[in-house]
Amino acid sequence: HPIIELSGVRKTYLAGQLAVDALRGIDLRVDVGDYIAVMGPSGSGKSTLMHILGCLDVPTSGVYLLSGENVGALGEARLAQIRNRRIGFVFQQFNLLASMTALRNVELPLVYAGVGREDRRARAAAALESVGLGNRLDHRPGELSGGQQQRVSVARALVTEPSLLLADEPTGNLDSASTDDILSLFDDLHRQGRTIVVITHEHDVAARAARTMLIRDGELTAAEVAA
Ligand code: ADP
Ligand code: ADP
Repeated sequence: HPIIELSGVRKTYLAGQLAVDALRGIDLRVDVGDYIAVMGPSGSGKSTLMHILGCLDVPTSGVYLLSGENVGALGEARLAQIRNRRIGFVFQQFNLLASMTALRNVELPLVYAGVGREDRRARAAAALESVGLGNRLDHRPGELSGGQQQRVSVARALVTEPSLLLADEPTGNLDSASTDDILSLFDDLHRQGRTIVVITHEHDVAARAARTMLIRDGELTAAEVAA
């Protein structure tokens, strides 16, 4: 199976009397080990697509198969389980808990997955080591640079060994040095065979992906990005 297979996916929001077609028939296939970027202007449907890919919302019509499983047919409990175990999320704002150490932040998805304490610690420490933060386990987010905080959130995203890493504007809050830092990390993850989808409006971020798609008015097309 491909990791992601979208066929004719449409999303219509009803705002009072008004129907907004946010996605108008999206076809997309992402294979294991792909690294793709989705670019598009504000209002083009990026967040809507991200929410659907991340199983935070389901299509109005069309089919989304995630590793062959028809997501549109699932109930909220199963969707929540998929979000927690099969998808690793990285957000623009890091979404780390300020009062918790890096280690505790990375442990959290394993708490929700019911993993025991010792195992959790070991896996979270290994995930932090794998993103180059093995010497920052006990630091709180406020004691880390922006790039390091985003590395912590990548470790949190990967600790459950998800089949898909889904990043929403992952460098939107970072200076150019930290952006380079995170993009090198994504390069490493890609080389290791991870499957990555990045949503961004930054050309240099998109250019690092193996493949770039452009979304405009709810329609997705392959894009040539100038290097
Ligand atoms: P982007 O992330 O590219 O800015 P969005 O996916 O947020 O685009 O929005 C796509 C379109 O759907 C826009 O026209 C937006 O106004 C509309 N939209 C998004 N969310 C809602 C909602 N909850 N209700 C009504 N319209 C929405
Ligand atoms: P942002 O605006 O920061 O991009 P979104 O509104 O796109 O965030 O989506 C964030 C939502 O995703 C939040 O409601 C958050 O609770 C949810 N979420 C993130 N990771 C998970 C997860 N592993 N399991 C369940 N829900 C998650």
